[in-house]
Amino acid sequence: MQKYETVIGLEVHVEMATESKIFCSCSAKFGGEQNEHVCPACCGMPGMLPIVNKHAVDLGMTAGMMLNCHINRVTTFDKKSYYYPDLPCSYQTTQWFAPVCVNGTVTIQTANGPKDIRIKQIHMEEDAGKLVHDEWTDTSLVDFNRTSVPLIEIVSQPDLSSAEEVVAYLERLRSLLRFAKVSGCRMEQGSMRCDVNLSVRPVGSTKLGVRTEMKNMNSLSAIVRAIEYETARHIDCIESGSDELVQETRRWDDIKGKSYAMRTKETAGDYRYFPDPNIMPIVIDDEWYDRIKASLPEFPEVKKERYVNELGLTEYDADQLIQSRQMCDCFEEATAQCGRAKEVANWLISDCMKILNKKQMTVDALPISGKALGKLIALVADGKVGSANGRKILAAMFEEDIDPLTYAEQNGLIISNDTDNIKAVVKAVVAADPKSVEDFKSGKEKALMALFGKCMRELKGNCDPQVLRTVLLETING
Ligand code: ZN
Ligand code: MN
Repeated sequence: MQKYETVIGLEVHVEMATESKIFCSCSAKFGGEQNEHVCPACCGMPGMLPIVNKHAVDLGMTAGMMLNCHINRVTTFDKKSYYYPDLPCSYQTTQWFAPVCVNGTVTIQTANGPKDIRIKQIHMEEDAGKLVHDEWTDTSLVDFNRTSVPLIEIVSQPDLSSAEEVVAYLERLRSLLRFAKVSGCRMEQGSMRCDVNLSVRPVGSTKLGVRTEMKNMNSLSAIVRAIEYETARHIDCIESGSDELVQETRRWDDIKGKSYAMRTKETAGDYRYFPDPNIMPIVIDDEWYDRIKASLPEFPEVKKERYVNELGLTEYDADQLIQSRQMCDCFEEATAQCGRAKEVANWLISDCMKILNKKQMTVDALPISGKALGKLIALVADGKVGSANGRKILAAMFEEDIDPLTYAEQNGLIISNDTDNIKAVVKAVVAADPKSVEDFKSGKEKALMALFGKCMRELKGNCDPQVLRTVLLETING
């Protein structure tokens, strides 16, 4: 019987997919030359005033609606004291008194069935810059490109009780936020990061134990190891009565597989939150609220049900598609175009995925339009283009925006109904390979396939396979 239980709450920071930063018009894009995306405002020059990016508020509200939150119709920004060179103002502009979203829930699947994780709040804030430590010159340099990139911080209640639940929760958040196009949630690029608050208590106890926090975790596997390590450390301290268990912030070293004390935990009072006098309260009227509500995507599992029940896909195919909003959009558009849901699913799941993998691209970057894919599938299904040539056209679609029919015509990829030409080609192939003909006549089915392949190559794939087979048999037997 288990003696202890782990109690975990998460603070998840997610960079929102806006074009520009949260309080100025600098680009919010990932990457670029160091300090390329900066201006006096995000560098904290004296006298510069913030202007709130409305799209960031749109996305903050979207996130809240996806996570069943209440949206505060009046939301305000506050200053949080912060003394570190990656934020040059000496405070972070964030939301403390009236965050944009409160009181949500996220349902996760666990070994014991579904479980609701309560969301305390989602607030918007600015990201900090990046410090680069140069050991060679023993200096630290600061890159302000990331400074003031808009973030949401999703704060859960301490409702999670194991590493598996944390992973399920983070994957669910990622799926919902990506579906709603709030963020790419790419942990490896730091656009989704997680602070883990953890305590341990005897099973049955309702009092929370001493809590430690591990900050800025950005890989699921590191999070799992950190939770397991920290849980064991807490239990050891409790059982040995060690005074090493104190409320503090700890750093997880994933290479050593250990956590280290960083600083004793500040309390909210230490941050000296106060309303930002330079930013007016934001009032979300009904029109704004309704516009965001109407823009929400179907939830992935609703799509899945529709794909299976209405469009006749297998559960497996539907599961593959709902991994990504881009796949779903492309699937739906292509199906609307050609009316062949199963074929569209096949082309996407096998042929498109193959090309994406080969190009080392993620599905988010799927470069083809659903409309063009639908047209291509119709060409193949209607027997206008052979299936091998269809794949050639698909590969070309990944390179540039082309119309499949125009491309097929320009590159001689249209199946020809010219039976005279087919007959001539078959006749020549058969005449040049009497051995295969003999083999076939003496019962070797394979020899026919060899002849068929030669003819198809001569015809550059532009022949209906049924027609070719008939002509070939007629020629041999005739
Ligand atoms: Zn700027
Ligand atoms: Mn934060």
